Amino acid sequence: MDLKEEIRKLIELQEIDSRIYSLSKEKDIDKPSELARLKEDFETSKSTLSSIEEELKKLQLKRKEKELDLSSKEENIRKSQTQLYQLKTNKEYQAKLSEINSLKADISVIEEDVIKVLDDIEKKEDELNGAKAKLAEREKVFKDNQKKINDEIRQLEAEINGLYSEREVISRDVDTKILSVYERLIKTRSGLAIASVDDYNCSACHMRVTAQTINEIKMYKDLVFCEMCVRILYIKDDFQ
Ligand SMILES: [Zn+2]
Repeated sequence: MDLKEEIRKLIELQEIDSRIYSLSKEKDIDKPSELARLKEDFETSKSTLSSIEEELKKLQLKRKEKELDLSSKEENIRKSQTQLYQLKTNKEYQAKLSEINSLKADISVIEEDVIKVLDDIEKKEDELNGAKAKLAEREKVFKDNQKKINDEIRQLEAEINGLYSEREVISRDVDTKILSVYERLIKTRSGLAIASVDDYNCSACHMRVTAQTINEIKMYKDLVFCEMCVRILYIKDDFQ
């Protein structure tokens, strides 16, 4: 087994695996979370709209109550005014008159309330229209992007599958022991199993590599690992 040749294949494999790693992240994490965020915006707009609708219903109910109250008090005034002329004593007459005045005062308070409620209703209706427009806009953004993002996910999937086939061909030629070390590292080290030494530093974790370690690597007798991140090390210039 020529270790240098094996490492050459691992470098090739790593290039493919790095592509697979970043495309998979895009497919499984980035794209779905982008879609989830748009869906959440859409759902938030939906619930905003329904709470505004609820508030509007309450205001309309309040308006109805006030108006009923108003007409019943007006009816009472009419009755009292009719009774006014049938009363015998001045005392009774004065009492009825003050009752009528008190009803009139109540009415003017209620009328003010009605104006206030009508004003609130108008504002709430404006708010409702704004919320409807926002919902329609977010629904469109979500629906448009849902299709686009799902297409992108399918494209990524196809690309990843192609890379897996390429990987299959290359890995067939790698020594099984070396391949199993590589496979274990790629799974446990964020998709990066093999790293070059750049200017006495591990290119993956930037740990300093001693001159003696570099000499060991250059012998290509055994796999040499970074002391810090435990990735397979190689010297880039040896593979140009
Ligand atoms: Zn390292």
